[in-house]
Amino acid sequence: MTDGEHQPVKGPRKKKGLLIVNTGNGKGKTTAALGMVLRAWGRGMPVEVYQFIKPPTANFGEHRAAKRLGIPVHPLGDGFTWKSKDPEKTKGLALEQWERAKARLQDPELAMLVLDEFTYLLHYGWLETEEAVTALQGRRPMLHVVVTGRYAPDQLIAAADLVTEMTLIKHPYREQGIKAQPGVEF
Ligand code: ATP
Ligand code: MG
Repeated sequence: MTDGEHQPVKGPRKKKGLLIVNTGNGKGKTTAALGMVLRAWGRGMPVEVYQFIKPPTANFGEHRAAKRLGIPVHPLGDGFTWKSKDPEKTKGLALEQWERAKARLQDPELAMLVLDEFTYLLHYGWLETEEAVTALQGRRPMLHVVVTGRYAPDQLIAAADLVTEMTLIKHPYREQGIKAQPGVEF
């Protein structure tokens, strides 16, 4: 059966907090998560964003917008994954951020939590996927959690309710050497 042939499951309408994963090599994983944050914010839903790679000094367009809107965005990383000169420090920051984000999973006030670039903790083995999935599944039932990043492990995909894989078709850097531009990338 192809994806297009999936039929929606009939039955009583139910509501639940979704585990959402945006993965793949194409661009749009983080921005799609931020788009959902904007929607939730527009609905007056309390939302929070934890970023695992971007450094605390990150002041991209999305950080500026979030500040103006009053959306808490917490970047805590050193900007590196596998390229890190000090992998233990990079891993330590990521795990510290995980502890903080994990504590938000039970907040009865929170409606949506974004874990941006979280898949790298699992991909690089800094955190056991099983441990992460168990914690995410143990979240407050109405909380939506959005995880972004490449190489989402199968176990995370299996646990998720909504998974989208961004496919790289063209990228201005790859084909034309055009570097990141404000408003589009940061
Ligand atoms: P966005 O934040 O724009 O939604 P993303 O979250 O899907 O993108 P990441 O995988 O987090 O993208 O990558 C971070 C940045 O790397 C993005 O700004 C993206 O445009 C850029 N990027 C993605 N693919 C390539 C590529 N093939 N060459 C150069 N840069 C790339
Ligand atoms: Mg991203």
